[in-house]
Amino acid sequence: MTPKHIFGPVLSRRLGLSLGIDLVPFKTCSYDCAYCECGHTTSKTVTRQDFFPAEDVMAELRTALATRPHLDSITLAGSGEPTLARSLGPVIAIVKREFPEYPLSVLTNGSLLTDPGVRNELLPADRVIPTLTTTCQKTFERIHNPHPSLTIDTIIRGMEEFRSRYRGALWLEVFVVPGLNTTDEELAGLRSAIGRIDPDLVQLNTLDRPPAEGWVEAASEAELEQIRRSLGRPGIEIAGQRLTVNPALQAKTRSADLVRATLHRRPSIVEDLVRTTGMSGAEVAKILGALERAGEITSRRMERGVFYSINQGDL
Ligand code: SF4
Repeated sequence: MTPKHIFGPVLSRRLGLSLGIDLVPFKTCSYDCAYCECGHTTSKTVTRQDFFPAEDVMAELRTALATRPHLDSITLAGSGEPTLARSLGPVIAIVKREFPEYPLSVLTNGSLLTDPGVRNELLPADRVIPTLTTTCQKTFERIHNPHPSLTIDTIIRGMEEFRSRYRGALWLEVFVVPGLNTTDEELAGLRSAIGRIDPDLVQLNTLDRPPAEGWVEAASEAELEQIRRSLGRPGIEIAGQRLTVNPALQAKTRSADLVRATLHRRPSIVEDLVRTTGMSGAEVAKILGALERAGEITSRRMERGVFYSINQGDL
């Protein structure tokens, strides 16, 4: 049976070889980001809910980890905002108890760090990685199309509050959208907010896959380098620059399932799949051809190459 909550491992530009856990239904999020690689949000909410029992998630995770595969991270992430799930705290606690050898990361848009309950539940995680793109409400709304109750000032205060108690690694993702959060004024605001949040690491990220809205463009390496210099503090890296390929990947997973599992969560080009799966380009191309002929996937040409994605009806 295809797992509902566990995906990958995928080769994450930010985390290396990462086994994902998805705690929320597809595209349930407090934001509807213009750059989202999973398409538009279908359920925009800030209300935490009991989407799936923690035990269902853990049953799938125990199966995935039965052979104790090499992983750089177990990551709460996926196609929505994980902190919306009431199972967040229980899943974090059980993973840390049963699988302490794996670093546990949480990718979050940060909007629920305003909630003391969410902040408490995140404390046992090894890495928490919230996103910050701007300190300006207008830019925040343009980039993230947030739930109407959300303001960026309150969210930044939530991040500061979390930092003051959190002893794990706080990595802040700054997602760069050229023309929107790259002006001198925007960068000055970010510099100040980053100083107050004081993360252990800042990761500059930019568009790498087809976005929800076609007007979003990727920043060039040169732009990212310039922003890194402009933010003017140590501990700023550009996502993907230090990625290493792990050749010992998933010996026991069937090749087509591995390709499917990766594409379920993120559109990819052949080169991504080669790196993620450890298969040859020819083998990946053969599987993609078969999946495309079977109507399971579609392809779309972008600047970085031809991206393959799972047809939504197959999710
Ligand atoms: S990028 Fe993340 S925060 Fe933004 S809409 Fe997609 S899932 Fe939500």
